[in-house]
Amino acid sequence: MKTFRLVLSSLLFVCLASVSLAEPQNIQVAKEHLKQYVNSGQYNTETQKVVDNATHYLAQKITANEKLALPKKLAVVLDIDETALSNYPDMLKSGFGGTLEEIMRQEGQGHDPLIPATLALFNYAKQHGVSVFFVSGRSEWMRQATVKNLKTVGFKDWNGLIMRTEKFQGVPAKEYKTLIRKQLTEKGYVIILNVGDQESDLEGGYSEKNFKLPNPFYYIP
Ligand SMILES: [Mg+2]
Repeated sequence: MKTFRLVLSSLLFVCLASVSLAEPQNIQVAKEHLKQYVNSGQYNTETQKVVDNATHYLAQKITANEKLALPKKLAVVLDIDETALSNYPDMLKSGFGGTLEEIMRQEGQGHDPLIPATLALFNYAKQHGVSVFFVSGRSEWMRQATVKNLKTVGFKDWNGLIMRTEKFQGVPAKEYKTLIRKQLTEKGYVIILNVGDQESDLEGGYSEKNFKLPNPFYYIP
């Protein structure tokens, strides 16, 4: 979730303040590398590769589940930002920065483009009777824009869209998302696949296998 980028900057500063470092890469050069990574197609290629592996794993689990006398209630968990939807056009416009207010305003417009590989995975899961839950770090007040955005780019009939309620404001993503997966598990779902672009989307258990998409743009603890 983009709103955590500022928190991260502070955290990284605290971590790095005590060690002596060589001169970091020039920030303008780093930003050019980000653009090249996307414009060259490499970002899409690497995203597709991860999703292909996830889909292959999902297919195996579906086949195995169908053979059981009592098939399990399989589920897939997907993150949203930089997993289902891309914020790249907004990041480009703001020079990979921007104030918190600007980032929130962009999120509220519900205009983020699709990450196509993830929609294909979503459709594959749904077509095979697997439930799909979006578990997002976005706040509840973003629900309307998020639903509109997901539908506009082609997602439909998801089984749940879980967003941060008031009580989870300020809770680290890893803690919040793990608790949500725990709750889904307690409802009888077997989460066979968890796909996200941050380690904090994936760590903490309650999923059989995690797939990490590339995200060189920001970091969420
Ligand atoms: Mg994300």
